[in-house]
Amino acid sequence: MNVEELLTDKNIQFKHSGNDLIIRCLNPEHEDKNPSLRIDKITGKFHCFSCGFSGNIYKLFRVKNDLINSKILELKEKISSFTSVKLNIPLTADYFNSEFRGISAETYKRFKAFKDISDKDFDGRIVFPILDPYDNIIAFHGRYMYSNADPKYLTKPAKTTLPLYPIYPDQIIDSSVILVEGFFDMLNMYDKGLKNTICTFGVSLVSRSDKGNSKLKKKFAHLKLQGISKLYILFDGDKAGKDGASKLKSALKDSYSIEILDLDEGVDPGSLSHSDITSIKEYLYDKNSNSRQVSQ
Ligand SMILES: [Zn+2]
Repeated sequence: MNVEELLTDKNIQFKHSGNDLIIRCLNPEHEDKNPSLRIDKITGKFHCFSCGFSGNIYKLFRVKNDLINSKILELKEKISSFTSVKLNIPLTADYFNSEFRGISAETYKRFKAFKDISDKDFDGRIVFPILDPYDNIIAFHGRYMYSNADPKYLTKPAKTTLPLYPIYPDQIIDSSVILVEGFFDMLNMYDKGLKNTICTFGVSLVSRSDKGNSKLKKKFAHLKLQGISKLYILFDGDKAGKDGASKLKSALKDSYSIEILDLDEGVDPGSLSHSDITSIKEYLYDKNSNSRQVSQ
């Protein structure tokens, strides 16, 4: 019996969210109006992001996990033991559910944005969990929401080496993705229809100490494995963006077909309007382009 069958059998309504199913909290003490208990479809592990109720759905209902699933479970556990840091969205997280800076609530939901006033580092910030390729949270990335705070962006833990994000984009169009510098650049592009946009967290991807760019290539290997062969680089329209883009292009030119898209001086992808982004989409991809939707 898999998790979906189990829930159906128990008359529990669920909805899909990535690798999880979401149901109303099973803790009888918790009146869960907006379902906040997530269950991993394979492992059956669950956690309520509101009250912290957690456990294993199979054990809770005294149902055996499939043999195949338990093999996968073992593998999953092995994989996760290799990752150094695993974080959880804080129980005090207040999930973001409105429009902000012209980006829709749906896009914020997709990237699990939250606020957390109980954490002094995050107070006044909109925070995003950053996932590694195993879907483990390895860091939180927070942007100050009001006026100009210093620093505008804050990553916690501070010295985390950030991956490309999302490493598994929701869409791949014509075997290509679009690389942008900042998290909000990615959100804006995603929100306005280019869901194959990936954030690089800055322009300094190429470093002299990285012999033969081997670390950089490893970082991009996940894209190659997904069948991505073309990279469009859409960095900010300033000197740093232009320099970063040309260095990245020469570092990865043997692995990918790369095109640098120039923005006007002072323009960044986060400030592009819906019609700007539609124009970019039409310029890059004609109507017959092949879009591979990736189910989340
Ligand atoms: Zn709960």
